[in-house]
Amino acid sequence: MPRPFEPAVDCPTSLAEAYSLLEPSADGRVRPIAGGTDLMVQITGELGEPPERVVDLWRLDELRGIREDGDALVLGALTTYTELRRSPLIARHLPVLAEVAATIGAAQIQNRGTLGGNIANASPAGDTLPLLLAADAEIVLGGPRGERSVPASEFFPAYRRTARADDELVLRVRIPLRADRQVRFRKVGTRRAQAISKVVVALSWSTDGGVGSTASARSWTHVRLALGSVAPTPIRALKTEAALEGAIPTREVGDLAAATLEDEIQPIDDVRSTADYRRAVAGRVLHRLIRDEGEW
Ligand SMILES: Cc1cc2nc3c(=O)[nH]c(=O)nc-3n(C[C@H](O)[C@H](O)[C@H](O)COP(=O)(O)OP(=O)(O)OC[C@H]3O[C@@H](n4cnc5c(N)ncnc54)[C@H](O)[C@@H]3O)c2cc1C
Repeated sequence: MPRPFEPAVDCPTSLAEAYSLLEPSADGRVRPIAGGTDLMVQITGELGEPPERVVDLWRLDELRGIREDGDALVLGALTTYTELRRSPLIARHLPVLAEVAATIGAAQIQNRGTLGGNIANASPAGDTLPLLLAADAEIVLGGPRGERSVPASEFFPAYRRTARADDELVLRVRIPLRADRQVRFRKVGTRRAQAISKVVVALSWSTDGGVGSTASARSWTHVRLALGSVAPTPIRALKTEAALEGAIPTREVGDLAAATLEDEIQPIDDVRSTADYRRAVAGRVLHRLIRDEGEW
Protein backbone atom coordinates (compact mmCIF):
# COMPACT_ATOMS: atom_id res chain seq x y z
CA MET A 1 0.00 0.00 0.00
CA PRO A 2 1.27 3.52 -0.75
CA ARG A 3 2.18 5.42 2.40
CA PRO A 4 0.76 8.90 3.02
CA PHE A 5 3.42 11.38 1.97
CA GLU A 6 3.84 14.85 3.32
CA PRO A 7 7.41 15.97 2.82
CA ALA A 8 8.61 19.48 3.50
CA VAL A 9 8.91 21.37 0.21
CA ASP A 10 11.45 24.16 -0.30
CA CYS A 11 11.13 26.45 -3.31
CA PRO A 12 14.47 28.24 -3.84
CA THR A 13 14.66 31.11 -6.31
CA SER A 14 18.44 31.09 -6.81
CA LEU A 15 21.05 28.40 -7.36
CA ALA A 16 22.94 29.48 -4.23
CA GLU A 17 19.77 29.01 -2.17
CA ALA A 18 19.13 25.61 -3.79
CA TYR A 19 22.66 24.41 -3.02
CA SER A 20 22.32 25.50 0.60
CA LEU A 21 19.13 23.42 0.92
CA LEU A 22 20.72 20.27 -0.51
CA GLU A 23 22.73 18.58 2.19
CA PRO A 24 25.96 16.74 1.41
CA SER A 25 25.67 13.01 2.20
CA ALA A 26 21.91 13.37 2.69
CA ASP A 27 21.55 9.84 1.30
CA GLY A 28 18.30 10.51 -0.49
CA ARG A 29 16.54 12.19 2.46
CA VAL A 30 16.61 15.56 0.67
CA ARG A 31 15.93 15.34 -3.04
CA PRO A 32 15.60 17.89 -5.84
CA ILE A 33 12.32 17.72 -7.73
CA ALA A 34 11.87 19.03 -11.28
CA GLY A 35 8.82 17.79 -13.23
CA GLY A 36 8.14 15.15 -10.57
CA THR A 37 7.21 12.48 -13.14
CA ASP A 38 9.71 10.03 -11.68
CA LEU A 39 9.93 11.30 -8.12
CA MET A 40 6.17 11.36 -7.48
CA VAL A 41 6.01 7.70 -8.47
CA GLN A 42 8.83 6.86 -6.07
CA ILE A 43 7.47 9.03 -3.29
CA THR A 44 4.84 6.54 -2.14
CA GLY A 45 7.54 4.48 -0.44
CA GLU A 46 6.79 1.43 -2.60
CA LEU A 47 10.16 1.82 -4.32
CA GLY A 48 12.44 2.45 -1.35
CA GLU A 49 12.46 5.15 1.31
CA PRO A 50 10.70 8.36 0.22
CA PRO A 51 12.54 11.64 0.82
CA GLU A 52 11.87 13.70 3.94
CA ARG A 53 12.28 16.99 2.08
CA VAL A 54 12.17 18.00 -1.56
CA VAL A 55 13.79 21.03 -3.16
CA ASP A 56 11.58 22.27 -5.98
CA LEU A 57 13.72 23.46 -8.93
CA TRP A 58 10.89 24.79 -11.08
CA ARG A 59 11.55 28.48 -10.34
CA LEU A 60 15.26 28.33 -11.20
CA ASP A 61 15.52 30.15 -14.52
CA GLU A 62 19.26 29.34 -14.66
CA LEU A 63 18.22 25.76 -15.46
CA ARG A 64 16.06 26.74 -18.45
CA GLY A 65 16.65 27.40 -22.12
CA ILE A 66 18.07 25.88 -25.26
CA ARG A 67 20.88 27.83 -26.90
CA GLU A 68 23.86 27.60 -29.21
CA ASP A 69 27.21 28.28 -27.59
CA GLY A 70 30.04 28.28 -30.11
CA ASP A 71 30.21 24.80 -31.55
CA ALA A 72 27.84 23.28 -28.98
CA LEU A 73 24.17 23.06 -28.20
CA VAL A 74 23.39 23.82 -24.55
CA LEU A 75 20.21 22.49 -22.95
CA GLY A 76 19.07 23.61 -19.50
CA ALA A 77 18.26 20.78 -17.07
CA LEU A 78 14.63 21.94 -16.81
CA THR A 79 14.08 21.64 -20.57
CA THR A 80 10.91 19.60 -21.04
CA TYR A 81 10.29 17.06 -23.78
CA THR A 82 7.64 19.35 -25.28
CA GLU A 83 10.24 22.13 -25.48
CA LEU A 84 12.70 19.75 -27.16
CA ARG A 85 10.04 18.78 -29.71
CA ARG A 86 9.19 22.42 -30.48
CA SER A 87 12.65 23.98 -30.48
CA PRO A 88 13.81 25.43 -33.83
CA LEU A 89 17.44 25.02 -32.67
CA ILE A 90 16.94 21.31 -32.02
CA ALA A 91 15.16 20.95 -35.36
CA ARG A 92 18.12 22.58 -37.10
CA HIS A 93 21.05 21.00 -35.25
CA LEU A 94 19.92 17.74 -33.64
CA PRO A 95 16.46 16.73 -34.89
CA VAL A 96 16.98 13.22 -33.57
CA LEU A 97 16.61 14.62 -30.03
CA ALA A 98 13.08 15.80 -30.90
CA GLU A 99 12.43 12.25 -32.18
CA VAL A 100 13.58 10.84 -28.84
CA ALA A 101 11.39 13.31 -26.91
CA ALA A 102 8.38 12.27 -28.99
CA THR A 103 8.74 8.66 -27.82
CA ILE A 104 8.65 9.53 -24.11
CA GLY A 105 5.42 8.90 -22.18
CA ALA A 106 2.57 10.89 -23.69
CA ALA A 107 1.69 14.60 -23.83
CA GLN A 108 1.24 15.00 -20.06
CA ILE A 109 4.67 13.51 -19.31
CA GLN A 110 6.28 15.44 -22.16
CA ASN A 111 4.89 18.73 -20.80
CA ARG A 112 6.32 18.16 -17.36
CA GLY A 113 9.20 15.66 -17.57
CA THR A 114 12.66 17.20 -17.97
CA LEU A 115 15.96 16.24 -19.54
CA GLY A 116 17.77 16.85 -16.23
CA GLY A 117 15.30 14.56 -14.45
CA ASN A 118 15.88 11.78 -16.96
CA ILE A 119 19.63 12.11 -16.43
CA ALA A 120 19.57 12.34 -12.62
CA ASN A 121 17.07 9.50 -12.31
CA ALA A 122 19.62 7.31 -14.14
CA SER A 123 17.24 4.54 -15.13
CA PRO A 124 18.89 2.04 -17.50
CA ALA A 125 15.72 2.56 -19.57
CA GLY A 126 15.97 6.38 -19.62
CA ASP A 127 15.34 7.13 -23.27
CA THR A 128 17.51 10.22 -23.70
CA LEU A 129 20.60 8.63 -22.16
CA PRO A 130 21.88 6.50 -25.08
CA LEU A 131 21.58 9.51 -27.36
CA LEU A 132 23.60 11.65 -24.93
CA LEU A 133 26.32 8.98 -24.90
CA ALA A 134 26.30 8.65 -28.70
CA ALA A 135 26.49 12.43 -29.18
CA ASP A 136 29.47 12.85 -26.77
CA ALA A 137 27.38 15.06 -24.47
CA GLU A 138 28.81 16.56 -21.29
CA ILE A 139 26.67 16.85 -18.17
CA VAL A 140 27.37 20.10 -16.28
CA LEU A 141 26.92 19.81 -12.51
CA GLY A 142 26.80 22.71 -10.08
CA GLY A 143 27.09 22.83 -6.31
CA PRO A 144 28.62 24.69 -3.39
CA ARG A 145 32.12 23.84 -4.68
CA GLY A 146 31.43 25.31 -8.14
CA GLU A 147 30.71 23.78 -11.54
CA ARG A 148 32.19 20.71 -13.20
CA SER A 149 31.59 18.88 -16.44
CA VAL A 150 31.31 15.10 -16.68
CA PRO A 151 31.21 13.23 -20.01
CA ALA A 152 27.90 11.36 -20.37
CA SER A 153 29.92 8.18 -20.90
CA GLU A 154 31.29 8.53 -17.32
CA PHE A 155 28.14 9.84 -15.66
CA PHE A 156 26.43 6.50 -14.89
CA PRO A 157 28.96 4.35 -12.97
CA ALA A 158 26.50 1.70 -11.66
CA TYR A 159 22.82 0.81 -11.50
CA ARG A 160 20.89 4.03 -10.79
CA ARG A 161 24.07 5.75 -9.57
CA THR A 162 25.45 8.92 -11.09
CA ALA A 163 28.53 11.09 -10.78
CA ARG A 164 26.37 13.70 -9.01
CA ALA A 165 26.95 14.34 -5.29
CA ASP A 166 23.90 14.84 -3.04
CA ASP A 167 24.48 18.59 -2.85
CA GLU A 168 24.92 19.07 -6.60
CA LEU A 169 22.38 19.75 -9.33
CA VAL A 170 22.41 18.88 -12.98
CA LEU A 171 22.56 22.39 -14.45
CA ARG A 172 22.69 21.76 -18.18
CA VAL A 173 23.82 19.45 -20.96
CA ARG A 174 26.38 20.47 -23.55
CA ILE A 175 26.32 18.63 -26.86
CA PRO A 176 29.16 19.33 -29.32
CA LEU A 177 27.90 20.01 -32.83
CA ARG A 178 29.68 18.49 -35.81
CA ALA A 179 28.53 19.43 -39.29
CA ASP A 180 29.38 16.02 -40.73
CA ARG A 181 27.87 13.96 -37.87
CA GLN A 182 24.85 11.74 -38.40
CA VAL A 183 22.84 10.49 -35.42
CA ARG A 184 20.12 7.84 -35.44
CA PHE A 185 17.84 6.53 -32.66
CA ARG A 186 15.43 3.63 -32.26
CA LYS A 187 13.31 2.70 -29.26
CA VAL A 188 11.68 -0.70 -29.02
CA GLY A 189 8.79 -0.95 -26.57
CA THR A 190 5.51 -2.80 -26.22
CA ARG A 191 3.65 0.02 -28.00
CA ARG A 192 4.32 3.46 -29.45
CA ALA A 193 3.27 5.56 -26.42
CA GLN A 194 3.52 5.15 -22.64
CA ALA A 195 5.96 2.25 -22.99
CA ILE A 196 9.13 1.69 -21.02
CA SER A 197 11.86 0.64 -23.44
CA LYS A 198 12.85 -2.96 -24.00
CA VAL A 199 15.83 -1.81 -26.05
CA VAL A 200 17.06 1.66 -27.02
CA VAL A 201 19.76 2.15 -29.65
CA ALA A 202 21.55 5.38 -30.55
CA LEU A 203 24.19 5.42 -33.29
CA SER A 204 26.33 8.30 -34.49
CA TRP A 205 29.16 8.63 -36.95
CA SER A 206 30.93 11.08 -39.23
CA THR A 207 31.91 10.34 -42.83
CA ASP A 208 35.34 10.77 -44.37
CA GLY A 209 34.08 13.39 -46.83
CA GLY A 210 34.92 11.44 -50.04
CA VAL A 211 34.04 14.19 -52.53
CA GLY A 212 31.86 12.85 -55.32
CA SER A 213 31.11 9.56 -53.60
CA THR A 214 27.59 8.83 -52.38
CA ALA A 215 26.91 8.69 -48.63
CA SER A 216 26.58 4.91 -48.86
CA ALA A 217 30.15 4.65 -50.24
CA ARG A 218 31.87 6.76 -47.57
CA SER A 219 33.63 5.18 -44.65
CA TRP A 220 32.49 5.97 -41.11
CA THR A 221 34.66 7.61 -38.47
CA HIS A 222 34.03 8.68 -34.85
CA VAL A 223 31.48 5.89 -34.52
CA ARG A 224 29.49 5.85 -31.27
CA LEU A 225 26.96 3.15 -30.45
CA ALA A 226 25.04 3.44 -27.19
CA LEU A 227 22.22 1.34 -25.78
CA GLY A 228 19.63 1.46 -23.04
CA SER A 229 17.73 -1.33 -21.24
CA VAL A 230 20.37 -3.97 -22.00
CA ALA A 231 22.61 -3.48 -18.93
CA PRO A 232 22.41 -1.99 -15.41
CA THR A 233 23.37 1.39 -16.89
CA PRO A 234 23.16 2.99 -20.32
CA ILE A 235 26.26 1.72 -22.14
CA ARG A 236 28.54 2.28 -25.10
CA ALA A 237 29.16 -0.90 -27.15
CA LEU A 238 32.88 -0.37 -27.68
CA LYS A 239 33.66 -3.63 -29.51
CA THR A 240 30.89 -3.03 -32.00
CA GLU A 241 32.00 0.58 -32.43
CA ALA A 242 35.49 -0.74 -33.28
CA ALA A 243 33.97 -3.08 -35.88
CA LEU A 244 32.26 -0.11 -37.54
CA GLU A 245 35.12 2.39 -37.28
CA GLY A 246 36.60 3.07 -40.73
CA ALA A 247 34.04 0.76 -42.42
CA ILE A 248 31.66 1.44 -45.30
CA PRO A 249 28.03 0.49 -44.51
CA THR A 250 27.87 -2.64 -46.67
CA ARG A 251 25.75 -5.73 -45.99
CA GLU A 252 28.85 -7.61 -44.74
CA VAL A 253 29.62 -4.81 -42.30
CA GLY A 254 25.99 -4.82 -41.13
CA ASP A 255 26.11 -8.59 -40.57
CA LEU A 256 29.40 -8.36 -38.69
CA ALA A 257 28.32 -5.40 -36.53
CA ALA A 258 25.00 -7.04 -35.59
CA ALA A 259 26.74 -10.30 -34.64
CA THR A 260 29.40 -8.41 -32.65
CA LEU A 261 26.73 -6.48 -30.76
CA GLU A 262 24.70 -9.60 -29.94
CA ASP A 263 27.87 -11.12 -28.53
CA GLU A 264 28.95 -7.96 -26.69
CA ILE A 265 25.83 -7.11 -24.66
CA GLN A 266 24.60 -9.08 -21.68
CA PRO A 267 21.00 -8.07 -21.05
CA ILE A 268 18.81 -9.64 -18.37
CA ASP A 269 15.35 -11.22 -18.27
CA ASP A 270 12.81 -9.01 -16.48
CA VAL A 271 9.09 -8.18 -16.53
CA ARG A 272 9.42 -6.22 -19.75
CA SER A 273 11.40 -8.64 -21.86
CA THR A 274 13.83 -11.54 -22.03
CA ALA A 275 17.60 -11.38 -22.44
CA ASP A 276 17.39 -13.37 -25.69
CA TYR A 277 14.81 -11.00 -27.17
CA ARG A 278 16.80 -7.93 -26.19
CA ARG A 279 20.02 -9.32 -27.63
CA ALA A 280 18.39 -10.32 -30.92
CA VAL A 281 16.45 -7.07 -31.28
CA ALA A 282 19.50 -4.91 -30.52
CA GLY A 283 21.37 -6.70 -33.32
CA ARG A 284 18.43 -6.39 -35.73
CA VAL A 285 17.92 -2.70 -35.00
CA LEU A 286 21.60 -1.96 -35.60
CA HIS A 287 21.53 -4.02 -38.80
CA ARG A 288 18.52 -2.03 -40.02
CA LEU A 289 20.17 1.32 -39.21
CA ILE A 290 23.29 0.33 -41.17
CA ARG A 291 21.20 -1.03 -44.04
CA ASP A 292 19.26 2.25 -44.29
CA GLU A 293 22.54 4.15 -44.71
CA GLY A 294 24.12 1.61 -47.05
CA GLU A 295 20.95 1.53 -49.18
CA TRP A 296 21.11 -2.21 -49.81
C1 LIG B 1 3.48 7.59 -17.20
C2 LIG B 1 4.98 7.77 -17.31
C3 LIG B 1 5.59 7.51 -18.53
C4 LIG B 1 6.99 7.66 -18.67
N1 LIG B 1 7.56 7.38 -19.88
C5 LIG B 1 8.92 7.47 -20.02
C6 LIG B 1 9.54 7.12 -21.25
O1 LIG B 1 8.89 6.72 -22.22
N2 LIG B 1 10.88 7.24 -21.32
C7 LIG B 1 11.65 7.68 -20.26
O2 LIG B 1 12.87 7.77 -20.40
N3 LIG B 1 11.07 8.03 -19.10
C8 LIG B 1 9.72 7.93 -18.95
N4 LIG B 1 9.14 8.27 -17.73
C9 LIG B 1 9.98 8.72 -16.63
C10 LIG B 1 10.09 10.26 -16.48
O3 LIG B 1 9.00 10.93 -17.08
C11 LIG B 1 11.40 10.82 -17.09
O4 LIG B 1 12.52 10.15 -16.56
C12 LIG B 1 11.54 12.33 -16.85
O5 LIG B 1 12.53 12.85 -17.69
C13 LIG B 1 11.88 12.69 -15.41
O6 LIG B 1 12.00 14.09 -15.34
P1 LIG B 1 11.34 14.92 -14.16
O7 LIG B 1 11.66 16.34 -14.38
O8 LIG B 1 9.90 14.60 -14.03
O9 LIG B 1 12.16 14.33 -12.92
P2 LIG B 1 11.76 14.28 -11.36
O10 LIG B 1 10.73 13.21 -11.15
O11 LIG B 1 11.45 15.62 -10.84
O12 LIG B 1 13.15 13.80 -10.76
C14 LIG B 1 13.71 12.55 -11.12
C15 LIG B 1 15.00 12.33 -10.33
O13 LIG B 1 15.99 13.25 -10.74
C16 LIG B 1 16.35 14.15 -9.67
N5 LIG B 1 16.48 15.46 -10.33
C17 LIG B 1 15.58 16.05 -11.16
N6 LIG B 1 16.11 17.16 -11.71
C18 LIG B 1 17.36 17.28 -11.20
C19 LIG B 1 18.42 18.21 -11.40
N7 LIG B 1 18.33 19.26 -12.26
N8 LIG B 1 19.58 18.02 -10.73
C20 LIG B 1 19.72 16.96 -9.90
N9 LIG B 1 18.76 16.04 -9.67
C21 LIG B 1 17.59 16.20 -10.32
C22 LIG B 1 15.26 14.00 -8.64
O14 LIG B 1 15.76 14.20 -7.32
C23 LIG B 1 14.84 12.56 -8.84
O15 LIG B 1 15.74 11.69 -8.20
C24 LIG B 1 7.75 8.12 -17.58
C25 LIG B 1 7.12 8.42 -16.35
C26 LIG B 1 5.76 8.24 -16.23
C27 LIG B 1 5.08 8.56 -14.90
